[in-house]
Amino acid sequence: MHTIPPIASPLLAWYSQHARSLPWRDDPFPYAVWVSEIMLQQTRVEAVKSFFDRFLQELPTIDHLAQADEQTLLKLWEGLGYYSRVRNLQKAAQVVVQKYGGQLPASFEDLKQLPGIGDYTAGAIASIAFQLPVPAVDGNVLRVMTRLTADDRDITKPAVKKDYFQRISEILQPLARSGDFNQALMDLGATICLPNGLPKCGQCPVSHLCRAFGENRTMDFPVKPEKKPRKIEKRTVFLLVKDHKVALRQRETSGLLAGLWEFPQVEGSLTVKAAAEQLKNWGIEYQSIQKAHRHKHIFSHIEWHMGSYTVLCEGSLLWDSAFVWVSQKELQQTFPLPAAFQPFVSEIPW
Ligand code: SF4
Repeated sequence: MHTIPPIASPLLAWYSQHARSLPWRDDPFPYAVWVSEIMLQQTRVEAVKSFFDRFLQELPTIDHLAQADEQTLLKLWEGLGYYSRVRNLQKAAQVVVQKYGGQLPASFEDLKQLPGIGDYTAGAIASIAFQLPVPAVDGNVLRVMTRLTADDRDITKPAVKKDYFQRISEILQPLARSGDFNQALMDLGATICLPNGLPKCGQCPVSHLCRAFGENRTMDFPVKPEKKPRKIEKRTVFLLVKDHKVALRQRETSGLLAGLWEFPQVEGSLTVKAAAEQLKNWGIEYQSIQKAHRHKHIFSHIEWHMGSYTVLCEGSLLWDSAFVWVSQKELQQTFPLPAAFQPFVSEIPW
């Protein structure tokens, strides 16, 4: 196996000139680094910026986060998806308050013990906020590394990640700028050494050291198994409207989108007749039912293909007690509605 070439010096020089300006980098105090890293898991940098600012404004310290009520927390996360991230963030904040007096511990091992913090996030916080010589190895870093070394091992294997963790640790030990080194690798992976065989090698500060580039084999790396196709689920969403309010219900406390709010919906692509039957089962009287739009939402392993009906309700309603009626303002400000249902909001005839 080829050793990692001596990239530290050109990479850091490049980073000094080209580091992306990001809100959490201006003042990288531990809480800010932590929140940004959790948000950046599975979400693009551009999308995270506004969420980050709002989150830090509402919950400026770990104590505030530890004490926030769940609906406020989920509302702040609305649109980011993967809501277990924010639930774990709060659980961890509560531990930090109880065990460490509200300050994140300056230790890779202690950080890793906190809910929702794995090797990568612990490494990012330890190096960026505390300047500890710990790597932060994610898919981006593995892509860069396997190209630099023309490594054809499968990067989804834990042993490969572990190996690079060890080898990058050795590079970091003598460096004074661990946080910058890790962030430089992140930036290189995000802006130059792009995925899907599209690296911009002409702009790369370490191309002269890169084995894949030298051998004209950048398309060969990283090596990973083909993804399984996502499961497709058809669903029918009901926009039930009465007196300028729309019906919502809360999802189960476990599983996909746990505890969040949704428009009442059922499995399958219902015909108008079947939709009318469903309304009858819920005990709903209505003036009109109209087929509206179709939307697709992609989760990591599932795709929801959704069709909606707009239903103008009337009469005395024997509502399922699980439904609550909310105004437009309450929907915007109070109830966390996952991104999957957001496209339907513009279809509600308030
Ligand atoms: Fe990636 Fe190309 Fe730079 Fe190699 S030369 S690290 S493939 S961008």
